[in-house]
Amino acid sequence: MDLPDYLPLSYLNQLLYCERRFWYMYVLGELAVNAALLEGTLRHEHADQPGTERIEDGRVVRRLAVYSDRLRINGFCDLVEEADGVLRPVEYKRGKQGRWNNDQVQLCAQALCLEERTAQAVPMGEIFYYRSRHRIEAPFTPELRAETEAAVAQAFALLEAGALPPHTRQSVRCGECSLEPICLPKETQRLLAKDE
Ligand code: SF4
Repeated sequence: MDLPDYLPLSYLNQLLYCERRFWYMYVLGELAVNAALLEGTLRHEHADQPGTERIEDGRVVRRLAVYSDRLRINGFCDLVEEADGVLRPVEYKRGKQGRWNNDQVQLCAQALCLEERTAQAVPMGEIFYYRSRHRIEAPFTPELRAETEAAVAQAFALLEAGALPPHTRQSVRCGECSLEPICLPKETQRLLAKDE
């Protein structure tokens, strides 16, 4: 498979959730539109309107394109707040905060791009969850930065390997996955069990 010059960083979120989900969505382009996803898309529209607004001690930039030549990733920040010269990316999510840190990794990838482009430190971001209507702070710790860079390497390695990854072993994730009707993890398990 030809590797992309740049990987869209939003796919890191899928990868951290499940390698197979990443493959379906990036390589096969599958996107099961369920009600939650549609609602999220509609809610996301407001944050997706590009533009810059002045605020009291800085400015807010919406839908900012970012990229990193070092990591070979690109994408958009829903919103970047600049206050007292410090940048803070904000990501909007349709649901509530999940049990995993895939949203934090996606946001950290944005921060790494911002740092590379601006040559200034981006220490912290925020994620706003529509369903629970709250923001959480996401400090870009050395551990999160390392996990994000590892996820980028993992994504390129999977693409280079060129094969659909197996189902996740954490079946609890399948219950919350919009691709479950396409991926059929339980049915596949049953078939495999019969063959053994
Ligand atoms: S249904 Fe499960 S194995 Fe399939 S893509 Fe979703 S999380 Fe991964």
